Amino acid sequence: MEAHYEQAQIILDKAKDLLISKRHNEHGDFMETGNKVSELWSKETGHHYKTSDVFKMMALVKQARNETGNFNLDNYLDQINYTTMACVAYQIENGDVTTSVKSEIRNIRWHVLSSDGETEYEMTRQLDGTITCECKGYETRKTCRHVKEHLDENT
Ligand SMILES: [Zn+2]
Repeated sequence: MEAHYEQAQIILDKAKDLLISKRHNEHGDFMETGNKVSELWSKETGHHYKTSDVFKMMALVKQARNETGNFNLDNYLDQINYTTMACVAYQIENGDVTTSVKSEIRNIRWHVLSSDGETEYEMTRQLDGTITCECKGYETRKTCRHVKEHLDENT
């Protein structure tokens, strides 16, 4: 194998080791953390952040470090891993995961602000891909503005 491919493999192996072996012990489950962060950011800003958005932003933080500081391999490894996590989260949010992965994934939850700007509704992507909402509209009609908006944004 040519040297630059070998070097690429070393870097990917390191990233994989960090994400799969080490990260879980040190930082907890990445989807749980990402879901929580998206919830806090959404609440703080009133803008609806998805978990995939959180990981995309974190990858950008690492990119900013790459562009402003001295070379640091760890920043690149983190950027690779956040991009990977963003991809996983995006696939989960869009139901675009293989059947075997799907069965391992629990329901995904996030919050949306109601039009009064204060009340929060919990939305859930069920394992079968259905999106449900806890607002009154959904309760009576089995669909609501929040579900429609989510589907419009993601299709
Ligand atoms: Zn709703």
